[in-house]
Amino acid sequence: MTEAAFRAFLPDLVDIRHRLHQMPESGFEERQTSDFVAGILEDWGLQVTRGFAVTGFVATLDRGGDRAIGLRADMDALPILEETGAPHASRTPGMMHACGHDGHTAMLVGAAWRLLHDADFRGKAHFIFQPAEETAGGAARMIADGLFERFPCDAVFALHNYPGLATGRFSARPGAMMAAIDAATLTVRGAGGHGARPEDTIDPVVAAASIVMALQTMISRNVPPQEAGVVTVGAFHAGSACNIIPDEAVLEISLRATDPAVREMLCRRLETIAHAQAASYGAEARVDWQVGYPVTMNDPAATELAASVVRDTFGSDAFAPLDKPMMGSEDFAFMLEKVPGAYLFLGNGDSAGLHTSRYDFNDGLLERGPAFLHALVRRFFA
Ligand SMILES: [Zn+2]
Ligand SMILES: [Zn+2]
Repeated sequence: MTEAAFRAFLPDLVDIRHRLHQMPESGFEERQTSDFVAGILEDWGLQVTRGFAVTGFVATLDRGGDRAIGLRADMDALPILEETGAPHASRTPGMMHACGHDGHTAMLVGAAWRLLHDADFRGKAHFIFQPAEETAGGAARMIADGLFERFPCDAVFALHNYPGLATGRFSARPGAMMAAIDAATLTVRGAGGHGARPEDTIDPVVAAASIVMALQTMISRNVPPQEAGVVTVGAFHAGSACNIIPDEAVLEISLRATDPAVREMLCRRLETIAHAQAASYGAEARVDWQVGYPVTMNDPAATELAASVVRDTFGSDAFAPLDKPMMGSEDFAFMLEKVPGAYLFLGNGDSAGLHTSRYDFNDGLLERGPAFLHALVRRFFA
């Protein structure tokens, strides 16, 4: 296959991206998206297996051999009212592709096209289209539905666009790439009463305020200084008037860490601090966990393979090593727990930030993204 043939196909790929952008759907609801993309790949003759995590599917290009590679794209959108003014803007008010998953999906379609027109490799390429990356952990659901039992992979890779990184530049690091995240709802139960008679009450506001402060000591006193962690109390709900002591206070907390042991410690210490601090005021604490995503852990060999493919294909400047992990999180981490691989950023250029109403995926990446994935697969099977 010549580069010229792929260039001739590019306008169609841009059109596919724009059509995906017009039909944003939230996690586990990506029915139109899934039907549209699976239909294209089936028409091209790929083997499509649906029914993973409601809307997820795998398209396989089997060129024999024993080894297999998995390439993953996410498909879900976000509840944001689009303000790009683009001709291909969302047709669904209040919902938009503000994280570029339309672009990730289109890049994977482009990679499938390139590999399909390239007879020169021996192996199995599994194109994994995943729902619900943003909040619900679609990757974990696909794995629970037997993804890697039915489609064993020797390595898995994923790309995420990155505003602020030069267009078409790749970036990654071996080891921790993105943080783990867990969330907790902490309810502090006291005994309310008249604001003038605190002695007759157990004030949950004071107890909860003290918990907020004590939780920050987990970072300064429990996390080793060489490691990273974040404790954010993003919401503190209590009371209704200045002269009433309420019965309870509710805190919404997120915990992030780039090391699995630190993650485990933060969760454990949060429980201890919450209960002990509450008890010291005569109050009671209850912690309800929403277990989140693990640390996105890049395999060093897979990361080096991807970096060398980038350098050899696009020049040495095209790969920018990432020196520190990002404190955001990513559910591709679940796949990397099962199969070695790497997660890479691909520069979206000087665009609006992810998860904002003016963000749009950079169509310029529809050439480079598939070219990279194509070269990666060929190198992997070489
Ligand atoms: Zn996102
Ligand atoms: Zn995203």
